[in-house]
Amino acid sequence: MDHHRPIPKDVLRPRPKISLSGTRGVNAVISTTEAKAPSRRSSVMQAPVLVLNATFEPINVTAVRRALVLMLKGVAQAEETQTSEVHTTSKAVPVPSVIRLLSYRHIPQQSRALSRKNILLRDRNICQFCGSTFSASELTLDHVIPRSRGGRSSWENLVACCYACNNRKGDRTPEEAGLRLARRPRPFTLHTSRQLMRLIGHKDEKWRKYLFY
Ligand SMILES: [Zn+2]
Repeated sequence: MDHHRPIPKDVLRPRPKISLSGTRGVNAVISTTEAKAPSRRSSVMQAPVLVLNATFEPINVTAVRRALVLMLKGVAQAEETQTSEVHTTSKAVPVPSVIRLLSYRHIPQQSRALSRKNILLRDRNICQFCGSTFSASELTLDHVIPRSRGGRSSWENLVACCYACNNRKGDRTPEEAGLRLARRPRPFTLHTSRQLMRLIGHKDEKWRKYLFY
């Protein structure tokens, strides 16, 4: 693994939509019952869903939208659902809360790819300087040690940051800007994934039995 590999420029820019490469066709047929309230609809589609391996082992957290795509492609099935429904072209489907892959997938122990999405996930959409939670589109990535000072694009030097804090910090170190990091940034490992699943699962009754409580 090479943490020093430069990441593409677009990784550092906020992307308002969830990235779903190769699934656009399936996405287009999904719409939610809350068609008149786009903000609520997008929050429904971005709600977290626990992903289980075929063996019921929790392996990941994804968004409702992605979970629905996996279900429509026949890759996964819902194990737990919410009371609300979404409409596809052919039928209404309950919003999934927990899904399970239908065939076993080997999950390597190595850490995840360095990406904007994974950094926001690791930092749980919390600005690492002011501690407030934001939507993904309201967050940018901050180089803790600025690039102009030799700071790298790495797990240890990139954090989720709101635009206000980003402006305040500018091209300075946190110390110089009078800001303090909420947590020391670390690579996203399987351990991070499990911690994250437990943290989210704490609030979701339906996740608990899969998270070994
Ligand atoms: Zn902030």
